[in-house]
Amino acid sequence: MMDLKLLIREVPDFPKPGINFYDITTLLKDRLGLHATIDSLASPYDDARIDLVVGIESRGFILASAVAERIGAGFIPVRKPGKLPAKAIKETYALEYGTDALEIHADALEKGQRVLIVDDVLATGGTAAAAAELVKKLGGELHGLAFLIELTFLNGKSKLAGQNVFSVLQY
Ligand code: AMP
Repeated sequence: MMDLKLLIREVPDFPKPGINFYDITTLLKDRLGLHATIDSLASPYDDARIDLVVGIESRGFILASAVAERIGAGFIPVRKPGKLPAKAIKETYALEYGTDALEIHADALEKGQRVLIVDDVLATGGTAAAAAELVKKLGGELHGLAFLIELTFLNGKSKLAGQNVFSVLQY
């Protein structure tokens, strides 16, 4: 088993002082690292009959579309407000200072379709919880959420109580 942590670059004080940023560009450019990353993220869902994988803008897109293709599912983007061209629904969530919001196309999925949410990093969990809310509002059956990296000390899982949460790497 490849040690993916060796390929992830940690950038201190980015984008602001005190944040240790996990930069996955160094992992994505490594062909064996990329393959092992998608394998690790996708294999728990091989037999989960997932219809659609939701990726969260923007690094989530990179991982989620590859996972979707690997498990034979479709892909749905969840984006920052104002980016999706057709009718969308919005979910607002709290940040440390202020609020942010995410949107999904209103016709992105049909009631009862089985959905997996994928993102690069689970930090405080606010982003993932908002994406989960969007899926539920459209009547999707949320099977679980998968992350490449979980920052366990931020306890993001507490915002995803009752959900099936998986992470490949923990810090
Ligand atoms: P949160 O809503 O706090 O769970 O933040 C999750 C989002 O912020 C994810 O989409 C990540 O891409 C990004 N993020 C948060 N913290 C980090 C970090 N330390 N390194 C890289 N990305 C991060």
